[in-house]
Amino acid sequence: LAVIDPERCTQCGLCEEKCRFNAIRDFTVDSVHCEGCKVCVIICPVQAIDFVERVCGHAYISETEYGPMSHARLIPGMENAGKLVSLVRQNAKKLAEEGGHELVLVDGPPGIGCPVIASLADIDHGLVVVEPTLSGIHDLKRALELLNHFKVEALVCINKHDLNEENTAAIKEFCSGEEIEMVGQIPFDPDVTKAMVDGRPVVEYAPDSPASEAIKSMWERLASILV
Ligand code: SF4
Ligand code: SF4
Repeated sequence: LAVIDPERCTQCGLCEEKCRFNAIRDFTVDSVHCEGCKVCVIICPVQAIDFVERVCGHAYISETEYGPMSHARLIPGMENAGKLVSLVRQNAKKLAEEGGHELVLVDGPPGIGCPVIASLADIDHGLVVVEPTLSGIHDLKRALELLNHFKVEALVCINKHDLNEENTAAIKEFCSGEEIEMVGQIPFDPDVTKAMVDGRPVVEYAPDSPASEAIKSMWERLASILV
């Protein structure tokens, strides 16, 4: 977080002009909007801006029956999660190298913001999970643009595909036109919600349910691509 020292500040206005997050007003940094990019710290001609580290969350490493897991908890209200995502990824990479694991699965957040970009660094494939709604199709296109920008090979899966067959057909047609592989489609299945409430993966909670069957079949296709 950038902090302006009023004793040293000459009120030249340069930092406010250059802050692309509009986080500086009247020579004061708005802690909510400051993304910690440090541009103002670098460009201030009289070194009147200090940079104070702040805790936005905590990173953890856990053991699960499926293998080690690197994860984090963001403190409620903290928006600047990009660095925390990067730390989670660094921990995952270290775990994989130390444990001899050839595959790291990164569960990215929705959208195309800073945490998503941080989760994309160095990945080989990006699986975009889309629901067959108009906003879902819109977000799919934005996510694919982002993957394309970072030269990451995109794969697509449709979740709850049977809730709107018309939009599902539109997604398939779009992906086919863009030559993007559709690796699976998962039906709406109440067992998914029950599994979440029970705190278990649906493939463990209800292994024979329609969603579990679809996920297992998709995983076989993914494994053949990734490993
Ligand atoms: S750039 Fe430095 S001197 Fe200029 S307004 Fe900002 S803090 Fe003050
Ligand atoms: S660190 Fe970046 S986001 Fe924060 S006030 Fe300075 S220029 Fe703006």
